[in-house]
Amino acid sequence: MPEGDALHRAAAKLQLLVGQRVEVETPHPRAAAKHIAERLDGHTLESVEAVGKNLLLRFAGGVVLRSHLRMTGRWRVEQKGARRVGTPWLVLRGDTHEAVLWNGPVLELARDSARLRRLGPDILEVPPDLDAMLERLRDAVQGREVGEALLDQTLVAGIGNMWKAEALWDVRVSPWATLAGVSDAQVRTALDSAHRMMRASVEGARPLRRVYRRAGRACRRCGGVIRSHPQGEAARTAYWCPGCQRGGTEPRE
Ligand SMILES: [Zn+2]
Repeated sequence: MPEGDALHRAAAKLQLLVGQRVEVETPHPRAAAKHIAERLDGHTLESVEAVGKNLLLRFAGGVVLRSHLRMTGRWRVEQKGARRVGTPWLVLRGDTHEAVLWNGPVLELARDSARLRRLGPDILEVPPDLDAMLERLRDAVQGREVGEALLDQTLVAGIGNMWKAEALWDVRVSPWATLAGVSDAQVRTALDSAHRMMRASVEGARPLRRVYRRAGRACRRCGGVIRSHPQGEAARTAYWCPGCQRGGTEPRE
């Protein structure tokens, strides 16, 4: 699997093309469907950097191409006109060399690279990058409450208030627990739960609400009375069952 170091190596190889106007082709039909060649052909490649598990290729005019390699993607830099067998996703052809992306499952154009760089790993990615999320959550101030941290898009991107509540209930962790108060295993399980629920929802499953907007009603697991209370600076409403979600200091009623 391409890890951070492989991405950094790819970024280093691609430096060869930086500063050049590149011809852009997308031989693979799935890449062609994204109309990337039309947008980028003839533009100058201004920079290439590895950010998290993404390669960001910045072009003149402020357009950024994001390439995430997942399990199978590979960038190669070859002499211009080198013989190839197969259908690459993308070819960037410079003066003397061409960069070729094989099996690049994630390829998209973005305008706002600063925002991209700040965003945490996407909870909906398949598979989710739980290690990278955990790393960011552990780099954060550990006195922060879990229910607030999971909504911080720079730590994990994509978890909304409802899924946060449901995932924490699912794994029996209180939103008021601090990051310091939960184990790596608990954090991973909660993230994995959020991922599964959200993927199911993307694929059309009707969300099963256990705590979200059920304040005052009985917990389906322990019979305790579900509570709600604003949490964090953004004062998003947290929902939890004091009976079976442990940790942290709950607000008074
Ligand atoms: Zn309960």
